[in-house]
Amino acid sequence: MKTVRLPDGTPEGVVVPALGQGTWHMGERGSDRRAEAAALRLGLDLGMTLVDTAEMYADGGAEEVVAEAIAGRREEVFLVSKVYPHNAGGRKLEAACERSLKRLKVERIDLYLLHWRGSVPLADTVQAMRRMQQAGKIGLWGVSNLDVDDLEELGAALPDCAANQVLYNLSVRGPEFDLLPFCRRQGMALMAYTPVGQGDRPGSLLRQRAVQAVAARHGARPAQVAIAWTLRAPGVISIPKAADPAHVRDNAAAAALQLAPEDLAELDAAFPPPQRKRPLEML
Ligand code: NDP
Repeated sequence: MKTVRLPDGTPEGVVVPALGQGTWHMGERGSDRRAEAAALRLGLDLGMTLVDTAEMYADGGAEEVVAEAIAGRREEVFLVSKVYPHNAGGRKLEAACERSLKRLKVERIDLYLLHWRGSVPLADTVQAMRRMQQAGKIGLWGVSNLDVDDLEELGAALPDCAANQVLYNLSVRGPEFDLLPFCRRQGMALMAYTPVGQGDRPGSLLRQRAVQAVAARHGARPAQVAIAWTLRAPGVISIPKAADPAHVRDNAAAAALQLAPEDLAELDAAFPPPQRKRPLEML
C-alpha cells in the first residue's frame, strides 16, 4: 500500500495509508449499521486502515458505526473526524471533540479537521485545536474545503496543519492548478473526497467512456480507475466510501492498479487538467 507522510514536527512524520475509507451516509438507518460496520472492518482487513468520519454524518451516527467497526482493533486504525464550523472554537470545539470521542469510544482522534470554514476566526480554531492536542485528545489537526487564500491565512500555524480534505476526482480537477502544489510545498496532505464521484449512476463519472475504456484495458472496474487516478498524485490520500462488500474489495484492489502513460493521456483528453485558477468546489 502506498503511504503518505503527515507533518507532526518530526523528520519522520506520521505515515498513513494513501487509500482509506469514507463514512458519509453511514449510520443513517439503524437497520444498516451492522452491515456498514462489517464493510468498514473488511476494508481494515484489506489495508484501508485510515477511516474518515465527522460529527455531521448522521448526527454522530457514522461515528457510532466506526466505533463498532474498530472495536478491539483501535491500534490498526488512523482515525479522522471533523468538527462543524459552528463548533470550531474555544470550549465549543472542546465539547464537540469530547462528544466525538465518546461516540467513537476512543481516547484520541488521530487527525481532527475543521469541516469547512464558517464564522469562527481560523486563529480561534487553531488555538482550540492546539489545546486539544496538548491534552492528548487529538493527534494532528487539519482543515477541509479550504482554498489557497484561506490556507495562507493560517500564517505561522500553516506548518502544523497536517491535511486539507477537498473535493478532488477526475471530473473535479481544479485543485491541481494551485491548491495541490501549495499543499505539497507545505508538506500538508491533500485528502481527496468523493473519489468515485458518489457511485455508479446514469451520467456519473464511472459511466464516462474514457474511464470505462481504461478499466476495460486493465480488466478493472471504473471505480478502480477513478481511485487509482487520485492515488497517482504524490501527497494525496483517497477516501472512497463503500458499504457494499463487493465495492470495498474493488476499492482496496485499486491501490495496486498502475495507470500507464497512455491511460493517463486518455483520461487527460476526456477530463482536461485545469489551465487557470478555478474556485474550490465543495459538496
Ligand atoms: P464516493 O465518491 O466515495 O462515493 C460513494 C458512493 O459510491 C457510494 O454510493 C458507494 O456505494 C459507491 N461506491 C463505492 N465504491 C464503489 C465501487 N467500487 N463501485 C461502484 N460504486 C461504488 O463519495 P463520498 O461523497 O461518500 O466521498 C467519500 C468520503 O469523503 C465520504 O464518505 C466522507 O467520508 C468524505 N467526504 C468529505 C466531505 C467534506 O466536506 N470534507 C464531503 C464529502 C465526502 P455503497 O456505499 O453502496 O458501496
